[in-house]
Amino acid sequence: MRRGRFAPSPTGELHIGNAFTAVLSWLQMRSAFGAFVLRIEDIDGARSKSEYVQQTLADLRWLGLDWDEGPDVEGPYGPYCQQERLSLYEEALSQLEAHGRLYPCFCSRAQLAQVASAPHGLFADEPRYPGICRDLTPAQQAELAVHKHPALRFRVPEGEISFVDAVAGVQRVDMAMGGDFIVRRADGVFAYQLSVVVDDAEMGVTDVLRGMDLLPSTPRQIALYNALGKPIPMFAHVPIVLDVMGQRLAKRNRSITLRAMREAGVAAEEILGVIGYLAGFCDTCQPISLDNLTDRFELAKVPKHPVRLDAMSARV
Ligand code: GLU
Repeated sequence: MRRGRFAPSPTGELHIGNAFTAVLSWLQMRSAFGAFVLRIEDIDGARSKSEYVQQTLADLRWLGLDWDEGPDVEGPYGPYCQQERLSLYEEALSQLEAHGRLYPCFCSRAQLAQVASAPHGLFADEPRYPGICRDLTPAQQAELAVHKHPALRFRVPEGEISFVDAVAGVQRVDMAMGGDFIVRRADGVFAYQLSVVVDDAEMGVTDVLRGMDLLPSTPRQIALYNALGKPIPMFAHVPIVLDVMGQRLAKRNRSITLRAMREAGVAAEEILGVIGYLAGFCDTCQPISLDNLTDRFELAKVPKHPVRLDAMSARV
């Protein structure tokens, strides 16, 4: 059975862009009679708030979404909050460590800002790690560790990683372009790249549908799946939703949260209508039920480029 998931970070209230991803992921599974998992990605405890977890559950339910497994539902792969799964991430790190895939990195942000080379290709949104700490001797590591707690980096494999994204198409990436990446931060927090792979693998997720902003993370995650000996899921990266001005929606902009819209009297079917229209499933932006939208779900119709709320869809 196929298994999909929605994995929000509880760092703010959901807006229509988050709803777009949640609904598409839900539709993908329900139209294929698959299971849908809700996982709360509260790995960064300092930025996560429990009130946002509650608000997220309420917002998703308001849209009509349900989940077979999640923080409030029994399931074989629980618990579904990352803070309760830390030992799994620790185990994965031990496995990577045992295979010689990790090394401590003592570089500071300021240091990296000076030496990092120009960004490349799919990894363009962050500078390439130039490998400063890659070949330190144990003696050098011990000396540096006296003054600074290190982050842990994953040694990326040599060569290319390629995958087919169901929306963005064929991707082929030279891993050296991004360089080795962090799997545990210097403050001890496990990195998103590690926790998401451990969770998706352990929860048996077969289909990862998420925002296009995470496309650059995917080759890194595939490298981790390979290093951990886990099967690689299918990927579909759906477009980011922009506001009428063409700006990315931000959780800090309160006016476009689902809660604000609900309180302003907008109906869930209207939001679903906007989502169906932006996703290319509906020709016009009319209220629609979740059942009707499920019948219209077709990943091939989803645009590859960011979608923008226009005068018609922004009416809600
Ligand atoms: N927790 C991530 C976010 O809210 C999404 C992770 C994922 O879908 O892989 O942006």
